[in-house]
Amino acid sequence: MSHIVIVGGGVIGVCTAYYLAERGARVTIIEKGDIASGCSYGNAGLIVPSHSVPLAAPGVLWRGIKWMRDPESPFYIRPRLDRDLVRWLWRFRGFCTDAHLHRAVPVIRDLSHLSLGLFRELAERGTVDSGFRQDGVLMVYRTAAALADGHHEARVLGDAGITATVLDGDGARAVEPALRPDIAGGVYFPDDAHVTPDRFVIGLGRVVERMGVTVRTGTEVLGFATAGRRIAAVETTRGDIPCDDVVLAAGSWSPGVARGLALDLPIQAAKGYSITYEQPANGPRVPMLLVESRFAVTPMRGERVDTLRFGGTLELAGLDLSIDRRRVGAITRGARDYLTLPQEMKLLEVWRGLRPCTPDGLPLIGRPRRWDNLVVAAGHAMIGLSLGPVTGQLVAQTIAGEKPLLDLGPLDPDRFA
Ligand SMILES: Cc1cc2nc3c(=O)[nH]c(=O)nc-3n(C[C@H](O)[C@H](O)[C@H](O)COP(=O)(O)OP(=O)(O)OC[C@H]3O[C@@H](n4cnc5c(N)ncnc54)[C@H](O)[C@@H]3O)c2cc1C
Repeated sequence: MSHIVIVGGGVIGVCTAYYLAERGARVTIIEKGDIASGCSYGNAGLIVPSHSVPLAAPGVLWRGIKWMRDPESPFYIRPRLDRDLVRWLWRFRGFCTDAHLHRAVPVIRDLSHLSLGLFRELAERGTVDSGFRQDGVLMVYRTAAALADGHHEARVLGDAGITATVLDGDGARAVEPALRPDIAGGVYFPDDAHVTPDRFVIGLGRVVERMGVTVRTGTEVLGFATAGRRIAAVETTRGDIPCDDVVLAAGSWSPGVARGLALDLPIQAAKGYSITYEQPANGPRVPMLLVESRFAVTPMRGERVDTLRFGGTLELAGLDLSIDRRRVGAITRGARDYLTLPQEMKLLEVWRGLRPCTPDGLPLIGRPRRWDNLVVAAGHAMIGLSLGPVTGQLVAQTIAGEKPLLDLGPLDPDRFA
């Protein structure tokens, strides 16, 4: 392996650099901001084989359209005349079926399990101190109707080999005593884990630098110099960088970068917010997904203080990073419908990020036919943190010419062409 240039210093780019450097490759990461300045910084930190259901699931699109007029709804499509959005929604609609669900769940499950194993290995080896814990994730339901859907989902996931325990209200409160007395119940996934995402990505960024990877932050990729079917150099705001292989890991910005290579990547940005507080006394101890509100709650290990993070909303609004304070307010208010929390909590940070979403809910990982020395690794939507290590391993195996850990067919970046 010779010189490999990775575009993007998020969880996908940094994990890829790690597994390439482990194989002795010469690697450069090019990042327009800082390491983890995109979606990988303030997410909910959950590593979730239990989340093996893709965004494209029956009923999702119609719920999004119904909620378009509600400024506090958890799923929102900002109306705009954008050809790429219309094409994306049309394709997405086609995947909102039970048949697709049954095809996609095993693929995401296998990726997630492998990735969880790699997270565990990184923690056990002491490679990076990321606050990794395997405390499970509790899905919490306020209403009996939603709990019945939860039972159905637990059965679908159970058939796919994912362990889930169905709990009534008392059972759920035994797992997490901070839950309110009026919740209907929960489904507990004991194998799920979590990290503090910025600690993981920034920490691994430092590790790869020590392994010899060149990390060029504050450097934006503008285009590519090509020769026939090969990329000869990556053109940046700080000059051209010659390369033997390129990995495109620019998250929601990947379609814009790929246009310079005549590639049409169907990725739409889906904005989400997180609000991080100092962990209050007797605050929640178990990561949770508050199902009707679609919010995540994650207690996290900080370097100085422990924190409690609320994350949520999914807004198809393009590459817009503005903060809508109504949606931010709805997240903490919504959490109080499920949890007994102190009136006053110490706010540490409000954050937003853009999830890179494909129409079928599966990432794009592999070599597109058009180029001999390009690997795409983007479109991880709601589970990019979870899938960071396995994606890094798969990309490194592809570039090294090794047999990949699993079949990359369903992740083919050309599958929509
Ligand atoms: C509220 C919220 C909660 C979430 N919770 C979870 C969770 O619990 N578990 C989970 O698994 N996932 C979660 N996610 C999803 C996860 O955060 C993303 O899937 C993941 O971070 C995507 O990583 P990435 O490396 O592909 O993209 P990014 O982290 O966005 O990295 C892409 C990088 O490319 C850089 N870049 C872009 N263009 C250029 C250019 N031209 N030149 C140089 N650099 C460039 C950007 O600056 C950026 O740093 C959540 C997301 C949100 C918004």
